[in-house]
Amino acid sequence: MATIKKDIRALSKEQLREFFVAEGDQAFRGNQVYEWLWSKGVHSFDDMTNISLKTREMLENNFIINHIAVDQIQRSSDGTIKNAVKLHDGLVVESVLIPTAKRTTACVSSQVGCSLDCKFCATARLKRMRNLNPGEIYDQVVAIDRESRLYHDRPLSNIVFMGMGEPLMNYNNVIKAIDKITSEEGLGMSPKRITVSTSGVPKMIKKMADDGVKFKLAVSLHSAIDEVRTSIMPFNATFPLADLREALEYWYAKTKNRITYEYVVWKGINDSKKDVDALVAFCKFAPSKVNLIEYNPIDDGDFQQADDSALELYINTLEANNITVTVRRSRGKDIDAACGQLANKH
Ligand code: SAH
Repeated sequence: MATIKKDIRALSKEQLREFFVAEGDQAFRGNQVYEWLWSKGVHSFDDMTNISLKTREMLENNFIINHIAVDQIQRSSDGTIKNAVKLHDGLVVESVLIPTAKRTTACVSSQVGCSLDCKFCATARLKRMRNLNPGEIYDQVVAIDRESRLYHDRPLSNIVFMGMGEPLMNYNNVIKAIDKITSEEGLGMSPKRITVSTSGVPKMIKKMADDGVKFKLAVSLHSAIDEVRTSIMPFNATFPLADLREALEYWYAKTKNRITYEYVVWKGINDSKKDVDALVAFCKFAPSKVNLIEYNPIDDGDFQQADDSALELYINTLEANNITVTVRRSRGKDIDAACGQLANKH
């Protein structure tokens, strides 16, 4: 009977150590193999040069190493790079490298497609096919780090989970990936340089607070009025703002970490004084700041970036209420790499 080979990267370090002990080898062998798989990122057992040939053959007979392959690289005139990443089963996700003067940020995907239905987001048009596993999330970061060194002469400095998918609907795998990214055997990156962006799943925000996570939280708010938010982010009907508010208050009480609200201002949708006042009131529930994002058009005419006067009203009112506000310019628009444009168009 043919045995189905397991993905060796689905094993924790402890499980690998136990595997070697069960094979009559030393637990330490597990550490060595783990290091090859994660910090050195090899794609073949043959590359594990300090492991004996016999052991490599035994591993080959028992396991496969699932890994991603960067299928296509697109480079924007502003230095942004978008990777189309092929997974072992042929599905594709996208990740983006965004260089600025001070940092290079990787924007990574957590799911193939997305189960949410935000009306302004191109990824929402692809239905959710599956969750990414921890290795597939980790590998996107490694690939971007390599490109950052190659094209921009510096390592990756930050990671945002703002690519395809809703990270809190693939929570366990995202956490496992972040553990690897931050561990010394992985990339040794500080969790303070990692931001998880969510459309706001109250139960999971509370769980994150209980788990004592150290990364930053961003919430795609876009409106602090239920009726408006539900019209553009229909899942808000299931997770209304009152529940989100309660979860965010809980998050802050437990973590003392300030929340970032991501917010696009659209013409005729959320550009009135009433919308601004509702946001100001929402910001007072827990220490927070607002990141105004420029709208990146997707292929329909329903949404349009608001006039500058509306943006000014937001900025002035927020500042008058002592709420920090930043404006994020789009990057990589010419290659469909900007927020909300990831849709495997190629
Ligand atoms: N599901 C997560 C992460 C992916 S979206 C979330 O909702 O936060 C990353 C960010 O891009 C979110 O803030 C999202 O609201 C924003 N976004 C989506 N479509 C956009 C568009 N067309 N233009 C600008 N921002 C967009």
